[in-house]
Amino acid sequence: MEMEDGSTLVRRVIENRKRIAALVVKRDEILKQKQHNREKIENSFRRRIDELKAEQTEALRRAEEPKDTELRENQREINSLEGEIYHAKRVLDFLRLKVDEDLSIRDDMVQSGYCKAIVDERFYKVKLFIVENNKPKNKYSLVALGRAILHEPLLKLPKNSGVPFLTQGRYDVETVIREGPSIAELKQWLGYPPNEEDLRRKLKGDYDSVEREYLEVLENYKAQDFQALAVAECKTCGFFHTDLDGVLHKPGEEVKCTQCSRPMTILARV
Ligand SMILES: [Zn+2]
Repeated sequence: MEMEDGSTLVRRVIENRKRIAALVVKRDEILKQKQHNREKIENSFRRRIDELKAEQTEALRRAEEPKDTELRENQREINSLEGEIYHAKRVLDFLRLKVDEDLSIRDDMVQSGYCKAIVDERFYKVKLFIVENNKPKNKYSLVALGRAILHEPLLKLPKNSGVPFLTQGRYDVETVIREGPSIAELKQWLGYPPNEEDLRRKLKGDYDSVEREYLEVLENYKAQDFQALAVAECKTCGFFHTDLDGVLHKPGEEVKCTQCSRPMTILARV
């Protein structure tokens, strides 16, 4: 910078400050105009954008609505076809039951101060016992033991809970109904009319309708009807698995017959 005399330099400082102040005002003005222009342009496009968006939404709706209808129809058909397959599975589950299995429970099966049959149906039997547990106060448990040919998932049975003794043999129902201080108290509870009836109803569940269904199945179908769905077959006793039984076999897998323990032949899946 060329050297000037002092007064010139001071003058220039004062002038420069004035000009800078003016330029700052100008800068703010430019920024304001810039913002204004941006808003104006954005506003002018906004409506067109909104219109286009609405147009797009409408076009999508027109294109998709008939497809959604088709999809619903498609799903309804799948559900109905699957419903039939589910029904066939239920029929086969019924046919797999051992209709003549002995369900009797001996009265002396458990060391007990009380014993009474509360459910005594052809395919489902439950007996009540009152047994000593090792609790200090409510020393006796009213317990239900049951055996069923009709069982889960065909017939919903009461949930098992820990009975206070070791059971021998297979029980489908093993449940503690209530506990009390004495045999007499528990008998009295049972003797109060609604209690025993309520208990019988709870234990039986929807047995009656499931029994009707079972008898109808036995009348109308036999396991052999399902042979065409076989995925594994026992050449010794003729028992077979289908994919409805919920078992899948890999080719070459060794499967033992659940009826006679001989090896089964794996068949190609249908
Ligand atoms: Zn077999």
